[in-house]
Amino acid sequence: MPTLSFDTSFSSQTGVPVSLADGLVRITAPNASAYTFTGTNSFLIGHERLALVDPGPSDPVHLAALKAAVAGRLVDAIILTHTHRDHSALATQASAIFNAPLWFGGPHRLSRPLRRFERNPLRKSCDWDLVPARTLVDGETITAGDIAVTVHTTPGHCANHLAFGIGNDLLSGDHVMGWNSTLIAVPDGSMADYFASLDKVIALPYARYIPAHGGEIADGPGYARALKAHRELRNSQVLDQVAKGASTVPAIVNAIYPTQPLPVRMAARMTITAHVEYLEALGLLKVSRSLFGTRIAPA
Ligand SMILES: [Zn+2]
Repeated sequence: MPTLSFDTSFSSQTGVPVSLADGLVRITAPNASAYTFTGTNSFLIGHERLALVDPGPSDPVHLAALKAAVAGRLVDAIILTHTHRDHSALATQASAIFNAPLWFGGPHRLSRPLRRFERNPLRKSCDWDLVPARTLVDGETITAGDIAVTVHTTPGHCANHLAFGIGNDLLSGDHVMGWNSTLIAVPDGSMADYFASLDKVIALPYARYIPAHGGEIADGPGYARALKAHRELRNSQVLDQVAKGASTVPAIVNAIYPTQPLPVRMAARMTITAHVEYLEALGLLKVSRSLFGTRIAPA
């Protein structure tokens, strides 16, 4: 099994344009947190003409950094990997300031309909009202700035997530990140979709992955295989703990995870809920839901 190790040594150089390849520049936003690591990475693609990928949070300091990096060049499009606000909150303002249309994978949507009494735990983190001027579709090659970019749908972290292929590099958004495994919170995201999107990027011809948080991943497909193995291990740990009598998500989280700070614990609860739903759909767990809570049992 490939081993997974997270790289948290990334030095973001917040606000400074960092060249990653010919026609590819990263500018990290000043929104570091437990969920965003060193902040959201925005990217400028192109030379004379540009595309701006993931303008990031609504922050005047970051907007000024983006303006300085664009340096008066024409911006052909503002492109989003997905519509979580740490990536998209600045999109409307950036679209107006750079006079550029907004392109992404369709309005924010859930990975499945809400159940009765269920709430999307990420509802406040999503840009529900953004509508793309152009909806990007799987497999199409677009000219973004003056460089060809191939669009790959990669649902899982959320339903409208896209990754972008440029030469040997894949802008992997929040789908594959080197600093941590991605958050999957149902029904905003879906574990089944996430597994399928890992298989998808592994089969694509990109060596290096460039995530929306943290540093580049030199062996992207190898790392994605390790992430997949990590998630499969979690599946078997969940099944083990339920077999031993854990019947709620908090009980499973307590059994699997060492003591962790609150934000990590909240993320762990959301991700284990996504594992439980995935295993239930495979017929490996029985789950009963009521107003009084959820009981999990072996199938
Ligand atoms: Zn996200």
